[in-house]
Amino acid sequence: MPKITTLEVPVRGMDCAECTRHVQHAIAKLPGVESVDVLLATEKAVIQLDLDQVDLSAIRKAVVSAGNYSIPETASSHAPPMGDFNRQLVLLLAGAFSVVASIVIVGEWLGMFEILNKLVPFPIGVAIVLVGGWTVFRNVIRATLKRQIISHTLMTIGAVAALAVGEWVTATIVVVFMRVGEYVENFTTECARRAVKELTAIAPQTARVERDGAEAEVPVAEVKVGEIVRVRPGEKIPIDGEVVAGQATVDQAAITGESMPVEVANGSQVFAATIAKLGSLRVKTLRTGADTTFGRVIKMVEEAETRRADVQRFADKFSAYYLPVVTGLAALTFLISRDPLSTTAVLVVACSCSIALATPVAMLASIGRGAKRGLLIKGGRYLETLACADVVLVDKTGTLTLGKPQITDVISLNDLPTSEVLALAASAERYSEHPLAEAVLAAARAQNLSLAEPQDFEALPGMGIRARVNGCLVAIGNRRLIPDAESLTIARQLEGQGKTLLFVACNAQLAAILAAADTLRSEVPAALAELRALGIKHIELLTGDNERTAAALAEKLGVQYRANLLPENKIEVVKDYQAKGRTVVMIGDGVNDAPALAQANIGIAMGAAGADIALEAAHVALMREDWSLVPEVIRIARRTMGVVKTNLAFTAAYNVTGLALAAFGFLPPVLAAAAQSLPDLGILANSARLLRQK
Ligand code: ADP
Ligand code: MG
Repeated sequence: MPKITTLEVPVRGMDCAECTRHVQHAIAKLPGVESVDVLLATEKAVIQLDLDQVDLSAIRKAVVSAGNYSIPETASSHAPPMGDFNRQLVLLLAGAFSVVASIVIVGEWLGMFEILNKLVPFPIGVAIVLVGGWTVFRNVIRATLKRQIISHTLMTIGAVAALAVGEWVTATIVVVFMRVGEYVENFTTECARRAVKELTAIAPQTARVERDGAEAEVPVAEVKVGEIVRVRPGEKIPIDGEVVAGQATVDQAAITGESMPVEVANGSQVFAATIAKLGSLRVKTLRTGADTTFGRVIKMVEEAETRRADVQRFADKFSAYYLPVVTGLAALTFLISRDPLSTTAVLVVACSCSIALATPVAMLASIGRGAKRGLLIKGGRYLETLACADVVLVDKTGTLTLGKPQITDVISLNDLPTSEVLALAASAERYSEHPLAEAVLAAARAQNLSLAEPQDFEALPGMGIRARVNGCLVAIGNRRLIPDAESLTIARQLEGQGKTLLFVACNAQLAAILAAADTLRSEVPAALAELRALGIKHIELLTGDNERTAAALAEKLGVQYRANLLPENKIEVVKDYQAKGRTVVMIGDGVNDAPALAQANIGIAMGAAGADIALEAAHVALMREDWSLVPEVIRIARRTMGVVKTNLAFTAAYNVTGLALAAFGFLPPVLAAAAQSLPDLGILANSARLLRQK
């Protein structure tokens, strides 16, 4: 039985989506490699492999032999950044490009190139071309020796063809634009990388730890769980932990995207990468490094690139066939027209990576920007699905409501005083983690009741709990657990008010009713209205609560509902809609509904900062508990897909037109060379729209 492990290695030298395919093939061919994902944006390969059969040096060899790629000896040497994904820069680039292109067009029109061609002796022209394009030609030759076609292969053939027919000026301009194109492509991929790099850049580096009674400044990687970390005003909190002393206002924007600071004090949870604004803290370390919420968010954003959208898969497949098809077309043009100039133009006009760039640039822009605003989208695939979602299912407790219910009524059904009923219930609920249990305990605490130690505690998900307290077998829960509660009129009245009832039975005798009210989150009505405005008509409430309570809330919100659901029933509901061909979004808080989140086409976790299950199970995580992020993420998804579609339509139309014009001799090679770097620029500019502030 081979032991499969996951290895992440940095890969340098990939500047185009096509390159990832070369690297991918090279690694996948090795024996012992189960699967491999090559990420352009984060410059690495994620490999599932059997270390007994293959090791890093074999992988390194394979990567090097695949072309101009390498695996650095030390992981940290990142490629130098090439500037911001910044609209001004894009405009500047486009402007410079237009000027160069105009010079070329005017030059061609005035016949300047003809004159140049005649004036300068041909061998000198050839020398100019060779020197100017040397590095590119070298790469192409290397690739060709390995039987690979790279994006510059076509242009090189074009340049050679131009030289062959004596047009050295054309060849020079082909080389110039090859260079421009290279720069644009680098710039574009670098911009996509930015989104992720900006996130990692804010990770804290050092921590001040209390060791042997003194304070020591150590790299965050060396902090151990349980150690006490000191945080001074204005400092970044280096770890996830619990405040043990001090008070502070903390800016949690790095995680939640919310700039409004929160107050923390003894017992509060704090997160790595958030900033203590006012006040000092002593924090007990709970999680460090990659285990912190921040660390996991970064990892998920990095891995988002592996979850490719279907359109991207399609484009990737397509671009694999693109180069051979264009070469064939050029051959055909030559056979039919016998015109070396048109043939050259065909080869030159079509060579850009733009089809492969159309999707990932837009996806990464949206994912990166989302992460900064407290929206964690785990892959382009999910943006694609989300854009066409048509059913939204929502969990009630903790998702629609604050999940902090309060006990409003205590009704004793026999002679026991209400305080004794409450003490009994609170004792039984002592070890339950359900929000309702906390409500009962809080009510008992408010009356200073002393609690007994429960025996044989048992939680029954979706129903309630059972425990033995002072010789009484207590059961607390809904009608599923205590069926003889059915007929009470008082119960119906309370439920009509939207309250959740806890029936308390002692030795199988119904003894009391506790009523709890939970507060609706204030942003919910507006967010639901926005969802409807986005065309999502089917919104349904799913709850383990009873019929009448659910009905009261559903009516207030104007949504449909299903009540009395066990956690597994929620999955069934999701599957039902999926079987009808609907695209289901499930929104939950991860308590009792994580499986339904995972089953849905898109699971959205509410308030995932610190909530492990929700963060793992969902496809999209809202890092702060804010319903306005729900319509927002759907809008982002639709805008992204809009941009992707325009990108694809634009490059397709552009290339087809260019090829047709070139094949029929309407496009001189010089113009073809200028024209081919336009689509990349168009994609970049169009995708930059996604970064614009709303
Ligand atoms: P929701 O689907 O609304 O999030 P749950 O599935 O968590 O609700 O719980 C469903 C129902 O089970 C609750 O409304 C309550 O009646 C009952 N219940 C669950 N846990 C407890 C508990 N610890 N104490 C009392 N009742 C409980
Ligand atoms: Mg819940």
